[in-house]
Amino acid sequence: MKNPIAGAIKVAVLAVAGLAVTPAAWPQSADTVLLNGKILTVDNQSSTREALAIREGKIIATGSSADVKKLAGPSTRVIDLQGRTVVPGMIDNHMHATRAAETFSTEVNWIGATSLAEGLDRIRQAAQKVKPGAWLIVVTPSATVETFKEKRRPTQAELVAAAPNNPVYVQLGYGWTMMTPLALTTLNINSDADVPAGAKIEKDASGSPTGVIARNIVTLFDKLPKPTFDEQVEGTKEFFRELNRLGLTGVVDPGGNNVLPEDYQALFKVWRERELTIRVAYSLCGMTPGSEFEEYKNYLAMMPMGFGDEMLHFNGIGERITWAMNNVNGLASEADRRKYYDIVKWAADHGLTVTMHWGNDKNVDQLLTIWERVNKEVPVAPLRWTVAHLDNASPQSLQRMKALGVGWTVQDAMYNGGDQVLKQEGAEALRRMPPVETARKIGVVVSAGTDAHRVSTYNPFTVLQWFLDGKTASGTPARGPQDPETPSRADALRFYTMGSAWVAREDDRRGSLEVGKLADLAVLSKDYTTVPVEQIGSTVSLLTMVGGKVVYAAGPYAHLEEKRARREGSD
Ligand SMILES: [Zn+2]
Repeated sequence: MKNPIAGAIKVAVLAVAGLAVTPAAWPQSADTVLLNGKILTVDNQSSTREALAIREGKIIATGSSADVKKLAGPSTRVIDLQGRTVVPGMIDNHMHATRAAETFSTEVNWIGATSLAEGLDRIRQAAQKVKPGAWLIVVTPSATVETFKEKRRPTQAELVAAAPNNPVYVQLGYGWTMMTPLALTTLNINSDADVPAGAKIEKDASGSPTGVIARNIVTLFDKLPKPTFDEQVEGTKEFFRELNRLGLTGVVDPGGNNVLPEDYQALFKVWRERELTIRVAYSLCGMTPGSEFEEYKNYLAMMPMGFGDEMLHFNGIGERITWAMNNVNGLASEADRRKYYDIVKWAADHGLTVTMHWGNDKNVDQLLTIWERVNKEVPVAPLRWTVAHLDNASPQSLQRMKALGVGWTVQDAMYNGGDQVLKQEGAEALRRMPPVETARKIGVVVSAGTDAHRVSTYNPFTVLQWFLDGKTASGTPARGPQDPETPSRADALRFYTMGSAWVAREDDRRGSLEVGKLADLAVLSKDYTTVPVEQIGSTVSLLTMVGGKVVYAAGPYAHLEEKRARREGSD
């Protein structure tokens, strides 16, 4: 100390004033500091910082390690990042997470398996944990098989060998399923009369069934036993932890097919018990064809926009507003458009966000025309309306969306289905899809996500890599790294953080690592900014925090996950 007398006087003054600087009462110190890292803040300038301090769940400082260290008191948790890269917790703009979570503890997950052998091994291991006769169910995107080394589907004999004493059911996307003989007899499936209309039992050259049921199999899944409520609760916790492992801290859930009020109860229970580790913004779909408007008015009378808290909130209506305007081919009838207008006008009057599933630019004019009409009466820009999918959006449609203040939720549909588009529409059409750079330059808010988990993986790193290398799941190069529609690494990350936070109407609270925002972040296993593009997809989180709380930790940080350690210790 340069001036010992001044120091002594200061201590004396503090003592006189009755202030005591003790470890327990260090009011301005941080709860946690992260030092010596490469923190990608995703602020307006995409700045990088070395260190960050957290108090009471929020970020109180970012800066150099030397400066942030000064905020550490005796009881502060100090985390040495050792040069690792930190990103804001990622937010999926369109994940059917409630539905995925329900079955996660009772299904065998093939996502992330790099070979069919590994997929079969996961079935074999699951079989050892359950009783003979218990179902083993795999439902996975078709693209999963394309990422297998073997590039093929399983045979029935392989499934039987993996689990001889259990009925096994494997479904790819919504068009192909294979069952073992035990599964078929358990469900009493003997002929085409026993499967849903439109589905077909496949037979080999000699006329014997192969175990495959193909074509329209959507409702075949409903024949399988449903998880119990406890299994759904466990599944929700496990699925969200799996998302935390991949650096996700939030999802925007657009409801979807077969999601009824009872399907939300496991999620709500985990929320009530304060066990959510993913922030959920969920919207409500029209459920009964023809009575959607009445349902909305009834359900939402007691559920205003934004209702909930920082972990779970109601985020408006969609992605299916009415059945009649869902997946429209050509032009919907005048009456259907009128009904749709009535609902979204009512939504605007009530300050509700709307997210709308739309597949093709060719006929999106009818949707935008209705929204423009509403906008003349009630400005929709403050309401954060979004169009979901629309992979072939034209510059004209994007201009109209920009004029309305409407955002765009982009998913990796071309990673999953690009090869099909290539065959049907050609290389140039596929190269443009989705035109994220055109959208960004026009000024449309672009967000990123997956549409998981039936048609897509939930892994954000798979999607980030696809944004940057433009390769489909099978490896087909749809567009190269220099393509005009290929975003920069910084922008792709921005789509997955600030872009999706905008969709959740929470970009003022999360989506970037800035002072005052929630401390949602992930410490990555690889440096996203410099690692070769083809390695981005295998990145994982080593430490994920939600509101400053460690929700997932591995490797050098494993000891930080106290709760997990306790849970495992007591099992
Ligand atoms: Zn959709």
